[in-house]
Amino acid sequence: MPLEEALERILGGARPTGATDELSLIDALGAVLAEDVISGIDVPGDDNSAMDGYAVRGEDLPGPLPISQRIAAGAVGEPLQPGTAARIFTGAPIPAGADAVVMQENCSVDQGGLLSVDGTVTTAQNIRPRGQDIAAGAVALSKGRRLRPQDLGLLASVGVARVTVFRRLKVAVLSTGDELVEPGTADLAGGQLYNSNRFTIAGLLARLGLEFVDVGIIPDDAQATAKALLRASELADCVITSGGVSVGEEDHVKAQVEQIGHIDLWKLAIKPGKPLAFGAIGDTPFIGLPGNPTSVFATFCLVARPFLLKLQGATDCRIPELTVTAGFATAKSSPRQDHVRVSLESGDEGLVARRFANQSSGVLSSVSQSDALAVVPPGVVVSEGDKVQVLLLDLLA
Ligand code: AMP
Ligand code: MG
Repeated sequence: MPLEEALERILGGARPTGATDELSLIDALGAVLAEDVISGIDVPGDDNSAMDGYAVRGEDLPGPLPISQRIAAGAVGEPLQPGTAARIFTGAPIPAGADAVVMQENCSVDQGGLLSVDGTVTTAQNIRPRGQDIAAGAVALSKGRRLRPQDLGLLASVGVARVTVFRRLKVAVLSTGDELVEPGTADLAGGQLYNSNRFTIAGLLARLGLEFVDVGIIPDDAQATAKALLRASELADCVITSGGVSVGEEDHVKAQVEQIGHIDLWKLAIKPGKPLAFGAIGDTPFIGLPGNPTSVFATFCLVARPFLLKLQGATDCRIPELTVTAGFATAKSSPRQDHVRVSLESGDEGLVARRFANQSSGVLSSVSQSDALAVVPPGVVVSEGDKVQVLLLDLLA
């Protein structure tokens, strides 16, 4: 199944719960606004000075002018007497009657305390107008906005201390596989490996501002899988598994979700990736990611991430792309869309994508050592120097 089609179907199945919480602004990073925030004030609240300098009337220039008052940030001056200047500092309100601020570097004050101005001064120069950032009554931020640090600052600037956001989704994570051992619990015996997917997924959820509900390692056993899936569906708003989703004898996820819910299993036409399951256990949506660590990362970012964002009520679920120059070539076209792990270097003509040497889906270093996923669409052959689209990992993960 092409990625686009899978995304369309999976996003069509995302039904936000609508439950809300009121949070203090400092706790709201990564949360999604459940209502528009309307500003009750103009920001800034006054016409104010963008510079340390002198507030003047243009018609009085170039001086010399007596300095009639001093206005610091936080103070309000008197109306400016014609034929005088006011000493003023950055952020201080412009006194009535002044129509420009001259920066102090363009001014000189003589022995007698009179101000002279060098160069030309234009009306409104160095004045930040009242309401230029946000006007009273305007929407400061809209419902569905996932709050970034600068958004918290913006909300604070309009005087908001608490926000109504969609309740943080709980996402239960199960790692399937008899071979898995949690790091820190035991040394590895033959055939075993440490559970890395749990940590990758937990981190990805944290970056999305979602709550990680750890259901642990599930052995490759039908009953244990069914029991864990049911418990997970009761604990959380969404269940995510890794591994065990193909149709081999040791893969129990599909059959067990079918018993207690419904599931579609897709062969996604992406690399790394391929098997991906989507369905529900009761009312709880279910996503079955593949087992290979790199495939987990890619399918989470490309499919689970937009789904979870939509489920969380976010309006913007799109994955931003950047165009860069390919510093690599692909040998032949593939029917699957490839996501080449690349690092980005700055060259003479902008950013160049260099391919990580080992692109195997079992090689997690390829993600760890890379800056981006370069998208090679189905049927496309890339030559060095071609333009390619990349997904920046810092924006995804
Ligand atoms: P599976 O889809 O269960 O056949 O797993 C595919 C590959 O991913 C196998 O090599 C597994 O050992 C590996 N794998 C599955 N789950 C994990 C995990 N949680 N951490 C690291 N590797 C895993
Ligand atoms: Mg397995």
